[in-house]
Amino acid sequence: MTTSTAQVLNGVLGRLGLGDPQSGVAAGRFLEAHGPEAVSHNPATGEPIARVRMASAGDYEAVMQAAQKAFETWRLVPAPARGEVVRELGNELRRHKQDLGRLVSIENGKILSEGLGEVQEMIDICDFAVGLSRQLYGLSMHSERASHRMYEQWHPLGPVGVITAFNFPVAVWAWNAAVAAVCGDPVIWKPSHKVPLCAAAVQQICNRVMEAQGCPGVFNLVVGSASEVGESLLADRRVPLISATGSCRMGRRIAEVVGPRMGRTLLELGGNNAVTVLDDADLDLATRAVTFAAVGTAGQRCTSTRRLLLQKGIAAEMTERLEKVYASVRIGDPLDPDTLMGPLIDEDAVEAMMRALEQVRGEGGEVLWGGRRLQRPGHFVEPALVRARADMKIVQEETFAPILYLIEVRGVDEAIAVNNGVTQGLSSAIFTRDLLAAEKFLSAAGSDCGIANVNIGTSGAEIGGAFGGEKDTGGGREAGSDAWRLYMRRQTVTINYGRELPLAQGVKFDL
Ligand code: NAD
Repeated sequence: MTTSTAQVLNGVLGRLGLGDPQSGVAAGRFLEAHGPEAVSHNPATGEPIARVRMASAGDYEAVMQAAQKAFETWRLVPAPARGEVVRELGNELRRHKQDLGRLVSIENGKILSEGLGEVQEMIDICDFAVGLSRQLYGLSMHSERASHRMYEQWHPLGPVGVITAFNFPVAVWAWNAAVAAVCGDPVIWKPSHKVPLCAAAVQQICNRVMEAQGCPGVFNLVVGSASEVGESLLADRRVPLISATGSCRMGRRIAEVVGPRMGRTLLELGGNNAVTVLDDADLDLATRAVTFAAVGTAGQRCTSTRRLLLQKGIAAEMTERLEKVYASVRIGDPLDPDTLMGPLIDEDAVEAMMRALEQVRGEGGEVLWGGRRLQRPGHFVEPALVRARADMKIVQEETFAPILYLIEVRGVDEAIAVNNGVTQGLSSAIFTRDLLAAEKFLSAAGSDCGIANVNIGTSGAEIGGAFGGEKDTGGGREAGSDAWRLYMRRQTVTINYGRELPLAQGVKFDL
């Protein structure tokens, strides 16, 4: 770590109140943990920046009990009053945006602007949740029986397990936690062991807010291994909902364990997102959008563009434009405001990228630009442009790295077929000025993804919409719109205010 990064980190940790990070939090205070040690690294240098003692299964139990206890009282706090508490959390995040954003950048390696953007997303979802706390609407129905009234009401569900991936160390927790909290559910957060400092910093902020508001135990943290703490959370019948973000492999395991115990799952898994560019597209716009979506976050977003489907008329020109732009992408220190692409998270990620490019060559693809490991400390690579065919095996997979497969298509129909021809179904986009083509892409016979965009890229969603994808991406929806319903239980109520007992469907049962 350079001296300046070390100074930034020390300052950030000091201001966030994280002198001595611990891993388990229950009832608003950090606990002594008993699991193995996780070492957090700075991906820009490869050097360790912190050691965090992880929670054991016993520590998990203490955290779980605190969350359960908090549920007893939190569920009875009126939802708008719960919203007021989330408002305070949002305000505290506003105060710490610069420090938390820097910490995200240092521990995860994404550029500072994206680190700050992640914290802004946390603030946005808190604002959203405050409004939502007055809008947890149920429907009312007309009963078919005289003097009867029917309506639906929504009750808190219980402690929610939130499992997050390394690539959004703080925002995805907030999408879940802010909404769950106004719905009346405490949260038990198991973050990725690759980014424990970010999680501890967020928890520190939560602890301060919740203590001041007199409601400890609503937000809880367990940094622990997938095998010990993760599996305990999955199997725990006291946790009615597991909201998990990560690879498809992880999602399958979660469905396997939570399904048989009839728990709910909200799964946000891998993507293999395509952008289609038709002959009539604005190529300036398409080039900028594709570069951000393929190179931004070093290709480590679930919504990163992995496949670029180019109509034959513009394929050569788009390829040329991208080669030029890729050559100008500034790769380096994520904290430097001039940098556009930081490092990959770790050496395993670099090796996975190199293996994928080997496979590309083996399957007859051609690396047109980039794709080399940079000879400097840290886990830096060049983004890669690859000429490929839709049916190549490697193209079907999500490689979590900045590899963009360029694939030629004849027109919108073939583009839709290729867009949909993978097992994942998260995000998709089309660049065109042809209304008919755009509407075809958005129709029921168009893109099969959870997100479909016109003239913007596949990444960079706003919190107001429901976020998630279909097929192997898991089918979950979180953040805005009506995603809140999954965090509550619905109760249908019928009230008889008459003196008769008519039965539904005209059934007679006279005694
Ligand atoms: P990962 O699957 O390796 O880990 C994700 C989280 O799951 C981690 O906290 C990990 O500890 C936990 N986990 C793994 N096995 C578990 C188990 N058996 N029990 C409980 N917890 C377990 O993923 P990653 O490498 O951290 O993140 C990258 C992946 O996440 C990519 O596939 C990416 O597309 C996906 N992702 C999806 C979204 C989305 O919204 N769809 C968002 C971000 C990332």
